[in-house]
This record gives sequence, C-alpha cells and structure tokens, in this order.
Amino acid sequence: MKYNTIFLFTFFMLFTHQLPAQQVHTAGEMRKVMMGEDLGPHLRWDSIARQHLFGISPLGRIQGEITILDGQIFVSTVGANGQVQIQNDWEVEAPFAVYAHVPAWERFDFEVKTESESELQEALEKFMLAHGYDTSKPVPFRVQGTFGHIDYHIISKPASETEHSHELHEKAKKHFSLENTRGELLGFYSQHHEGVFTHRGSFVHIHFMDDARQNMGHLENVAITQKVALLLPMINSTLGSIHVNDTDFSKGRLGFQQDIELQDLVKFHGHLCDGLVVGFQALSEAMKTLYPDGTIDRTNTRIVSQPPPCLTDVAVYLSGGRYQFNTFYVSKAIDGLFVVQRLDTGRAVAVNLNKGVKPEAIDRLGSLAVKGELSACGLDSLKTMEDEFSDFLLKTKPSENYTVREIKDFKWDPVLQNDFVKTDVLNKNKPGCDGGH
Ligand SMILES: [Zn+2]
Ligand SMILES: [Zn+2]
Repeated sequence: MKYNTIFLFTFFMLFTHQLPAQQVHTAGEMRKVMMGEDLGPHLRWDSIARQHLFGISPLGRIQGEITILDGQIFVSTVGANGQVQIQNDWEVEAPFAVYAHVPAWERFDFEVKTESESELQEALEKFMLAHGYDTSKPVPFRVQGTFGHIDYHIISKPASETEHSHELHEKAKKHFSLENTRGELLGFYSQHHEGVFTHRGSFVHIHFMDDARQNMGHLENVAITQKVALLLPMINSTLGSIHVNDTDFSKGRLGFQQDIELQDLVKFHGHLCDGLVVGFQALSEAMKTLYPDGTIDRTNTRIVSQPPPCLTDVAVYLSGGRYQFNTFYVSKAIDGLFVVQRLDTGRAVAVNLNKGVKPEAIDRLGSLAVKGELSACGLDSLKTMEDEFSDFLLKTKPSENYTVREIKDFKWDPVLQNDFVKTDVLNKNKPGCDGGH
C-alpha cells in the first residue's frame, strides 16, 4: 500500500512536470474597472502578436466586449436600437485583458450537465485534474457545441458618462438570452486572479460567441444539456515554456526564476520561423536531460551551436551562454544542432532533429533562396512550407522528432569565427510576389 502511494505520487509528479505552463498574460485589473478606479487603457490589442492568439476583454472604457479566437478579433457593441453589432477592428483598447498564445488544442468529449457558470467551473476543474492538467496555473479553455441556454451581457457604458461605480457598472450591462444555440465559449481559468480577470469568488472569466457570429459577449450563465466538446491546450505542445534560474541582481545570488516561451524568442530573434521552433524544441529536450528537475540553471550551462541565425539566437537566449565569457561558440564541426554542457557535473549532450522529419523541399528551396535564385513567389511558397512544418512540430511530441545523445569526454574547443552568412536577411529587399511590396 505504502509503495503504491509512493509510486502514484512519483508518477503524478513526473506526469504533471511535462505539462507546459501555458503562459497566460494579463493586463490591468477587473476590480479597478468595476469600482471606477481605473478605466484607462491597459492594453492595445493591435500590439499583441496574432498567431494562435486567444483573448478576452471589455472594449475601451467598457463600451463593449472583445473576444479573440485563433488570431481573429470580434468586437461587440450594442447599437441605438438595442441590436448587437459585431466588427473586426484590431485598433481597440482594453482596460483589462487576459490572453494566451495556444498553437494546438486537444479536443475532448465533455459530458456534463450544468445549470450555471459555477457548475461549469466545477466540472472543468474535475475534468482537468483527471486529465493531468495543473489547475494551480492559469489555463485557457474552449467549449464548443449546442447550448441549452445562454445568458450573456455586453457592457455598454455611455461614452459621455465620466464617473463609475459598482451601481453604474451593473446599469451599463445590456443582457441577452439565447435558447438552444450553437456556439463557442472561450474562457480562462485561474485560482489566483480574483479581481484581476475573474470576479471575487470565481475562478473563470468566459465569453460566448454563437456560430452565426451574431451574438458575442460576457457569459453570465450557461445550461449544458447535451454532449459538447471541451478544448484544452495540447499537453505535449512545447509552445509551453521552459523554466530558468538566474541571479537576482547585478551582483546577486542564484534564485531568480522565470518562464521563457517561444513567443519571447520571437521578439529577440525578429520573427517566427521553423528554425526557431526546431531550436526551441531541440534545446528544451537537451536541457530536460541535463536538468531532470525542469529548472535550467543559466549560470551553470555552456553551449556550442550550429551557425544558422535562428539556432544561435535560441542557444544564447535559453542557455545564458555568451562568447565573451567562454560559454558559447559556433561550430559546424559538432555532430548535432547543439552540444550543451552542465558545468557542475561536466555532463554534455548533443541533440539532433531526426532524419526525415523536415520536408526535404524546405532545404532545397532554402539553399536556392540563399543563392538569391528563388523568385519572389518562390519565397512565399517556401514561407508557407516552413509555417506548415512549424505547425506540425508544435502538434507532435518533441520526443518523437529529436534525439538527445550523451557525449562522453566532451572537448570544449572554442573558436571565434565571424564570417558565417546571416541567411535570414539576404532577401530583405525582394519585391512581393505580386510585384509590389
Ligand atoms: Zn468579459
Ligand atoms: Zn529565423
């Protein structure tokens, strides 16, 4: 019995550890909006990367509702005639918001009967725990299907009304009800954001949109009377984050920990490309071997990278290695994308992308592009191929696509070589496929 418990506990720890901390971002605070303390803009939606974006917020100074589904924005307001109006303008602000980038969702049958939002929250919690999701971290979720009953509101504070209070907040809500309607709920679950994006006493903030795209707003109540689909972030998607440990100030001690996700690398590197995804996943796999507890000590790691611009950027960002401290260099001589070494144990591993995983055409067209021989339209089709390859990688288990190998007696052999070609800027002045820019 005792052994069983220990086994189960260990299993649970291992299992939950592999889950991505799906990064959920917030801006502003719901509580301050409701109390009228701060209705000012805390987020401009057009400043957020759109690929795989999911998010919800009120509009402007609470003049409507905003829902973003997979990079598509919907903004609902109530017209003078009381009709719901939905448009798709990105140049909108929000007094508070919650959002996440989710590249891949896992679809589950969700057989529950609920009469209210809080019952839905309860059912969701149970389901996530039973399926290995870490409910102590914020999680985005979607529910799709036919709903027996939906109550939702669109907040519609008159633009001329300057003061705000709890009473005026209630008054500003325009209520709508629907029966037997097909649509989707987009929600964010968190036990730690009461007053930030969930109401006091609630762990969810949910928006509803019907399939006809004629109704959208903040969910108040939902009756689920027949089987619906629940979508949760794909567990094996490594668009999750890696966890790093650094020192806490310029002369500080080790212990400042944070999560890095692919999206952060996009900012550093300049764009999202398949090389960035390959580098991020490959290095995450290698780091898992070196740091089995999941926390990468960036003060204790050195790295050798192949020369492509995406790989070297991933290498320095994730490992903390830098040339001037003799913890990073670039070499074509290594057998792998990267060789990473832990300084305290001396343990070193190399990581490869398995043969046959990357479509051969990407490399063929890629080398033509480097020689300047790929036409403007050819560049566009190469981009499409690379994007599809990235998508594929993000939807499959990294352990199936990469191989990590132990390197015995690894020799650190730093060289300074600065005549590699930065291949991702060679075509920067090529005209567009249609002849324009
Ligand atoms: Zn809302
Ligand atoms: Zn790149």
